[in-house]
Amino acid sequence: MKKFIALLSLSLLLAVSGCAGGTKPETQSATYPNIEDGTYEGTGSGYAGDIQVSVEVKGGEIAAVTVLEHSESLPDGIGKMPQNIVDNGLDADAISGATGSSEGIRSAVKNALALAAGEMEKVEVAEGKDVVIVGGGNAGLNAAYWACKGGSSVVLFEKQGKLGGTFGGGTWIATGSKMQLEQGITNDSTEAFMKDVDRLNAGYVKRTGVSDYWFNRDLAIYFGDMMPEVTDFAEEIGADFGKRILSNPTLYEPHDVMRVLSGGNRASYTDAIVNALKEFEDNGQLQIVMNANVTGLIQEGNVVSGVTVDLNGKNVNYASKAVILATGGYGFNEDLVARAGLKNYTSSAPTFQTGDGYLWAEKAGAELKNMDFITTYAAGIKTKETGLTQMYAIRVKEFGDLIFVNGDGERFIDEFGPGDGSTYDAITYQWKVQKDNYVYIAVSQSQIDAMKERGQSLLSADEDWAKFDKLVADQESVFKGATAAEAAEKAGIDAEKFAATVEKYNGYVEAGKDEDFGRTNITSVKSSTGEMVELGRDTFTKLEGDIYLFRTTPYIMICAGGIDVNTKGQALNADREPVPGLYAAGEIIGMANAFGRTTIGGVGNTGTYIWGKMAGDGVQEYVQSLK
Ligand SMILES: Cc1cc2nc3c(=O)[nH]c(=O)nc-3n(C[C@H](O)[C@H](O)[C@H](O)COP(=O)(O)OP(=O)(O)OC[C@H]3O[C@@H](n4cnc5c(N)ncnc54)[C@H](O)[C@@H]3O)c2cc1C
Repeated sequence: MKKFIALLSLSLLLAVSGCAGGTKPETQSATYPNIEDGTYEGTGSGYAGDIQVSVEVKGGEIAAVTVLEHSESLPDGIGKMPQNIVDNGLDADAISGATGSSEGIRSAVKNALALAAGEMEKVEVAEGKDVVIVGGGNAGLNAAYWACKGGSSVVLFEKQGKLGGTFGGGTWIATGSKMQLEQGITNDSTEAFMKDVDRLNAGYVKRTGVSDYWFNRDLAIYFGDMMPEVTDFAEEIGADFGKRILSNPTLYEPHDVMRVLSGGNRASYTDAIVNALKEFEDNGQLQIVMNANVTGLIQEGNVVSGVTVDLNGKNVNYASKAVILATGGYGFNEDLVARAGLKNYTSSAPTFQTGDGYLWAEKAGAELKNMDFITTYAAGIKTKETGLTQMYAIRVKEFGDLIFVNGDGERFIDEFGPGDGSTYDAITYQWKVQKDNYVYIAVSQSQIDAMKERGQSLLSADEDWAKFDKLVADQESVFKGATAAEAAEKAGIDAEKFAATVEKYNGYVEAGKDEDFGRTNITSVKSSTGEMVELGRDTFTKLEGDIYLFRTTPYIMICAGGIDVNTKGQALNADREPVPGLYAAGEIIGMANAFGRTTIGGVGNTGTYIWGKMAGDGVQEYVQSLK
């Protein structure tokens, strides 16, 4: 007979009776007839972390929704979704471009209403499944699919109240897929992909002089070989790749072949795999348990034999034959990030990326590799208010007219980069190596006025310049002066040298030649589809009028170090022997472990499906071997 563990969860069952006292709606046709008039609070998981709301109910209807606390960086979801729910109810469409925040608000409102109605429902977790998967991001979901497909039984624990994890958009790479072949692109292959991997690693070696690092080429080759199968699989099960147009962006994510897909409906990548899993939920092979925070691994000798998990308010043991860790990255674990030597940074990853799986794996004897390296992006702005959450960033990708200086007030690079396909890596690398990871970005009033006239904003998602105005007013990370020296003094950098830098730079602009770093007046750039696009403006312009100095930090998006695994997804110890019963899938295996020290666009998203399959197939083989 199966044993069960009881899990307390909240659900929105509307017809619960027995609420005591208070004013209930007079009519039972109200949407929430059992909820008294009043204001109730609830919490849901948004894109960047928990969202807390208050919900006012009047006459059995939602009268108002107010967001009390959140860490979201996109204003639209937070601004528009509450009223959308008031106007259209809980089934209101998510706000376009802010799906994660919208869903977080929706689940917070549901939570508030469930609490108001006093509803509790018991969920039971069947014991004795072969495999525990920790994490319901796309990697965990794919691992569940392939483990079940091979015949294993699986329980997946997800600490949040939603599935899909970090996956939020961006790029996918589709070497050898039907989509690529249908477009007549026949020059792609694992070998071509590996050429890009090697070219980008060579760029890193050239830039840094560091060549004594390790990566597992077998993983990159496995990835290359699996791209056709998983891309076709994703489409077959319903992932919506939109217009299916492949490109080879060369400025930020350089691939030499047209294999990069941007756009499409990203939520569908999660929905597709969740739907595909229904078959296994229905036949009892799979149970997905949400709001279930796993707290550690259980080991007998060196064999991993289950997890400890918070269920029903208690921390309990769950025994299994194997465990797949799919807990994502560690952008919000400062201790793990510090292993890469970053002192100051922000993170555009969600706050649930606490890096749990890395620490458990290490404790269980698995080796973490490349933790001294992390991919960072340029020009986040850290304030006391935002903490690690990246809410402000300068659009250095636009390169505008900005100049970058270090703490000594001196330039150190051609801000437009080498323009040879390694541009973005070359630029962002600077944020890692400058003292305390601070790069000061200088911009003048004349340049700001010109940007405004062009309808361009300096900060991301700041069309009305409200974020800019707030940062200038706060005087915490942006320092304004009537002269370069005054701005530098306020920023605490070398005023004399910075004033000299600005004077010299203005002289270079006048002469049309940057004697220090060779910057020129670039007026056209390569688009993501390879054509040259006219910018319609000068980019090498003088700093005139008031000077603003922005103290910027790197920001993290995808983590690079991770658990050393083989091509069966088995976690390996320092001797590269498997830790029995322990597997890993997704970002946790470390992009640098698979591809070296480069930024290859698409490996995170595509990797959720590929590494999920690798670990799911691998664990299935292991479970069979135990029978
Ligand atoms: C802003 C941003 C943009 C990006 N853009 C791109 C892009 O353009 N191209 C690209 O290829 N990649 C991109 N990425 C990276 C990509 O999104 C991720 O690498 C990928 O989604 C990670 O998937 P995952 O399943 O491994 O982990 P996640 O999706 O992070 O899932 C991990 C899950 O584990 C759960 N979990 C964690 N700890 C526990 C615990 N203790 N108990 C239970 N559950 C737990 C979490 O709640 C989460 O649901 C981007 C990332 C960010 C942040």
